[in-house]
Amino acid sequence: MIPQLKSLDVWFITGSQDLYGAETLKKVAEHSTEIASSLSASKTIPVNVVFKPVVKSSEEVLKAMQEANNDKNCIGVICWMHTFSPAKMWINGLKILSKPLLHFHTQFNRDIPWNTIDMDFMNLNQSAHGDREFGFITARMNINRKVVVGHWQDEESLEKINSWCRAAAAWQDWQGARFVRFGDNMRYVAVTEGDKVEAEIKFGYSVNTYGIADLVAVVNQISEKEIDQLVDTYQKEYQLQAELLKGGAAHSSLRAAAKIELGIEKFLVDGNFKGFTDTFEDLNGLEQLPGIAAQRLMAKGFGFAGEGDWKTAALVRAMKVMGSGLQGGNSFMEDYTYHFQPDNRMVLGAHMLEICPSIAEGKPSCEVHPLGIGGKADPVRLVFNTTPGAALNASIVDMGNRFRLLVNEVMAVKPIQALPLLPVARVLWKPYPNMHTGCAAWILAGGAHHTCYSQNLTREHLEDFAEIAGIEFTLIGKNTELSSFKNELKWSDVYYKISH
Ligand code: MN
Repeated sequence: MIPQLKSLDVWFITGSQDLYGAETLKKVAEHSTEIASSLSASKTIPVNVVFKPVVKSSEEVLKAMQEANNDKNCIGVICWMHTFSPAKMWINGLKILSKPLLHFHTQFNRDIPWNTIDMDFMNLNQSAHGDREFGFITARMNINRKVVVGHWQDEESLEKINSWCRAAAAWQDWQGARFVRFGDNMRYVAVTEGDKVEAEIKFGYSVNTYGIADLVAVVNQISEKEIDQLVDTYQKEYQLQAELLKGGAAHSSLRAAAKIELGIEKFLVDGNFKGFTDTFEDLNGLEQLPGIAAQRLMAKGFGFAGEGDWKTAALVRAMKVMGSGLQGGNSFMEDYTYHFQPDNRMVLGAHMLEICPSIAEGKPSCEVHPLGIGGKADPVRLVFNTTPGAALNASIVDMGNRFRLLVNEVMAVKPIQALPLLPVARVLWKPYPNMHTGCAAWILAGGAHHTCYSQNLTREHLEDFAEIAGIEFTLIGKNTELSSFKNELKWSDVYYKISH
């Protein structure tokens, strides 16, 4: 479901020019090959890094970029100028490059060889100024890119490249992706709305509505045998509430939930969808609101958000791709209720049901309880606490003239007491820089109540992703101060009015 990152390629393209002669150019190619293979072999870099022949002219640059654009496996391009590469020769290639770009400002030699350094060495190892020429043309052409500075064997450089590779993989995953919206938006809700046409232009994914009856028809095709098998899986993977067990008073609810899960999964797989939304206001023909179904499908890698929130569903999917293989999970989330105890203020995050068990601590409990809204049969859901530690919430909002990716770094904490009567999965976190400033900044920035909550991504992944997407990135973190944050929003507003 989630693409294997090691099956994806990043191209390593080194710029030079003919001026230096065959001997030097041979060295440039050797060094570039060594760097590319070292990056590719590094445990820190999740994708393949593929060496491409050194480019020395406008024609070669253009050809390399055309090939990168057309290669389905290429998720991005890393450029490095070992020697000086006059940047006018990059213009036509950069103009058409449609893949994410990382400018790796590195140098083959880590240290200056004090005793042996001569002009030949200087002419070969001159990325310190060669990369400045490349920096100028990318700045002049206003090209979105990440600049990573550091030696290529330095773990810090590798981590920055890792972050960008993950963002590029998620970006690639969005191109042509399909998301299904069962029913429409929750009535009257504003923040979950947005311009789906603009989203498809900007992000590459499409969102289309299907009537709930289309889903019900698929759910109704599910066989009793398939339901038996999934019920067995539930039994193995979760702590089942007694009444849900075979012979229990609510066992039929468990079977109904399994049938819904199988039906949605079939609908998604058959339709080649990477995620979905539903709304409790349009469930005609479904017995229950999909609870455990949405939870388990998220854990399999599908994007999901409730109440027709397609932007968050797509973001959940992207963040699952970005976090692929990392410890911890990513889930649809909602800021639900507050704990305003002085010196221990925190947010309780949850949803009516649909939190992804990839963020669970321990074995989830599988339970059935009434749902106060929607007027359907009691839905089955997984109930759990989550692992404490550093995390973040991310939200994409449609500001009318642009999309804004808003991120708040948080620290998840253990519940200070048991929550015996709360029948949903939940997280407790303390927003940075503190509850008052963090929440005020979120509100000022128009951040949604729906987010993707991540245990394994950092602000850097999301900043890289926003850079690739060409959208606004707004961070609320340890250093956020409200007065300057308000100014940042105002300046940003002006920037996007001028540039879009
Ligand atoms: Mn909600």
